[in-house]
Amino acid sequence: MGIDSSDLFGSLFEAPSLVRVVPVLVPLPVPVAYSYAVPDGVHVEPGSVVQVPVGPRQLIGVVWDGENDDKLDPKKLRPITLVFDCPPLSKEMRDFVDWVASYTLSPPGLVARMAIRAPAALDPEPMVEGLRYLGGQPERLTPARARVLDIAGEEEIPWTRSGLAHAAGVSVSVVDGLTAQGIFETVFLPPPPVVARPDPDYTSPRIEGPQKQASVEILESIRAGGFSTSLIDGVTGSGKTEVYFEAIAETLRRGKQVLILLPEIALTSSFLERFQERFGAKPGEWHSDLAPRMREKVWRGVVTGEVKVVAGARSALFLPFEDLGLIIVDEEHDPAYKQEDRVFYNARDMAVVRARIGDFPIVLVSATPSVESQVNGLAGRYNTVHLPTRFGDAALPDLHLIDMRRHPPERGGFLSPVLLRAIGRTIERREQSLLFLNRRGYAPLTLCRVCGHRFQCPQCSSWLVEHRFKSQIQCHQCGYSERTPEACPECGTFDHLVACGPGVERIAEEVEKHFPDARTIVMSSDLLGGVKRMRLELEAIAKGEADIVIGTQLVAKGHNFPLMTLVGIVDSDLGLSNGDPRAAERTFQLLSQVTGRAGRTGLKSHGLLQTFQPQHPVMQAIVSGDAGAFYEREIAEREKAILPPFGRLASLIVSADTRADAETHARGLRAAAPKVTGISVLGPAEAPLALVRGRHRFRLLVHGRRNSDMQAFLRAMLENGPKQRGSVQIQLDIDPQSFL
Ligand code: ADP
Ligand code: ZN
Repeated sequence: MGIDSSDLFGSLFEAPSLVRVVPVLVPLPVPVAYSYAVPDGVHVEPGSVVQVPVGPRQLIGVVWDGENDDKLDPKKLRPITLVFDCPPLSKEMRDFVDWVASYTLSPPGLVARMAIRAPAALDPEPMVEGLRYLGGQPERLTPARARVLDIAGEEEIPWTRSGLAHAAGVSVSVVDGLTAQGIFETVFLPPPPVVARPDPDYTSPRIEGPQKQASVEILESIRAGGFSTSLIDGVTGSGKTEVYFEAIAETLRRGKQVLILLPEIALTSSFLERFQERFGAKPGEWHSDLAPRMREKVWRGVVTGEVKVVAGARSALFLPFEDLGLIIVDEEHDPAYKQEDRVFYNARDMAVVRARIGDFPIVLVSATPSVESQVNGLAGRYNTVHLPTRFGDAALPDLHLIDMRRHPPERGGFLSPVLLRAIGRTIERREQSLLFLNRRGYAPLTLCRVCGHRFQCPQCSSWLVEHRFKSQIQCHQCGYSERTPEACPECGTFDHLVACGPGVERIAEEVEKHFPDARTIVMSSDLLGGVKRMRLELEAIAKGEADIVIGTQLVAKGHNFPLMTLVGIVDSDLGLSNGDPRAAERTFQLLSQVTGRAGRTGLKSHGLLQTFQPQHPVMQAIVSGDAGAFYEREIAEREKAILPPFGRLASLIVSADTRADAETHARGLRAAAPKVTGISVLGPAEAPLALVRGRHRFRLLVHGRRNSDMQAFLRAMLENGPKQRGSVQIQLDIDPQSFL
């Protein structure tokens, strides 16, 4: 490794004085590539991954496309320090990075950084030392030695030292002794693959009924080659996964790589197993819980083309595949595809862009497709295939609303008697119940009954949430926490603090009171033990080792619990009133997904939704099972209000250490907005989350007609706006999902 001199002959043609200059994208928030000199005899090309000096530091960057500035004197430029021994990023990948940077108005170096995330992965994997059996007999044949020779003689392939010792059941020193006598020769083997190669024909396809037509249509688009977008719109349990497995098989037969994006990959080990059953090997995994060493291996395997299929979270979209031929976006409507940090992007939308640039098909999959994708389907831009019924005998759960005004819980409780009775009957049948509440902790607000003091985060405008298991009150915005106080800090009174409203821990307490003998599990992302514990608990639930599961949205996603026949939604109205234009859509999707956990294996199942607004269109849509009518209305309303996808939105959050600085800067930006018909700016207004981590926040919302050039507008606004000074920061979010 190090400076690559393999292209020495090429560089001989250049006179030594003609040192070249190349643009290099560095992982910094700067708008352009920096220029570097290429030392004599070093070969680089656009896409080469290099190390360059920036100030006192050495950073990893990528040689980029584009003309060099003739006026630059290469002798005055600092040279590239190192060229890494890995294939350069392809033109396709570079175009994708440029596209994302310009669409999201992000520094291109920060986007490129997502593609070359794991620096150590740039070193080739070391060769593994192995032993080859040369034949012959040792001077003294002990039983241990005889066993080693027996095993080694069975197969031609070389062994690793420890592998051979282990197989023969002897210590490594026995093997070493034989090597010393010349019975074995040391050889170097290529490192073992990260994951075995999936075999498209390992098992035969499992598709029946409506799945057949769906897979025929999707395979057609794959065989036709080129870019196309398909949308599989099928109810939970209809066999969408089986259908897209066929698309994967076909792509593998063509020798190309596949990317499967999943919203919560770290927790879906059952998906990996299912993939293995179909293809004989697991896909490579990519998510933030992957061990660093594994991350490096997967990255390298993807770049070299050795890893054929990756199942990953949204960041997997930036993996530089050698020859990507298909992207699947499962649960395409899921908000987890939106990244709201550094580079703000929606992986679902950018996946479509990547497929278009790479000229290959993409398949979006959902039981409750986003309004955006539905509209694209209706407009003929996407090819939609429908799977309207569950596979086999499984029926969708019977869904009913519980009107909480008519069936109120007992004092201090949150579960109506109707829901409690249903849980009791489910336990009697030895089946499982799931109670869903999208709120971590014990209670979302604590107050003092004597003086009315409310516990608020010292650095954010949010209440502190009580976590009783941990004896803490916590801020869910910034992570601030303190021990649950015994006395009110305002009036000093002891034992008069009251918890207001429920979180999952409080629901668990209520459940345990009513069903003391039932086995209950609380599933929430903040509990001790992290992903490992959650995986174990999900497995335990799937095996029937719990009677009642109380969980946040963590349990809503993709799991298959064969015994789960009752789903109770504790607060169906929770997501409806937060000023988000997608609130109704999101609530519909989340509730459909959660109730869809019930009855996947054919047992009769029920969903009960506690609500104070039984007449609300979302509630009516869910119990009537008429998703079509709901979406039709939702689409019509969006069209009328020119909201996405009929119009475009961008949000700017201006934050600063003082409220005045944030507000002044936001007003300055607003004043700098160009006058363009079809685009208007709303605000600035104090953001609903006015304070986060001690920073004051103001929000501007830019609204444009569908065909307006939002990016040009925003660029002009930022360029003409006030200079960014002091603590002022601007977060720019194109197609925002969050309105806080
Ligand atoms: P979805 O992805 O739409 O939720 P799945 O693909 O997970 O649905 O299918 C639901 C269940 O039905 C799974 O347990 C799956 O193994 C089973 N299944 C679906 N299609 C078939 C088929 N053609 N043959 C056998 N089992 C199937
Ligand atoms: Zn906070």
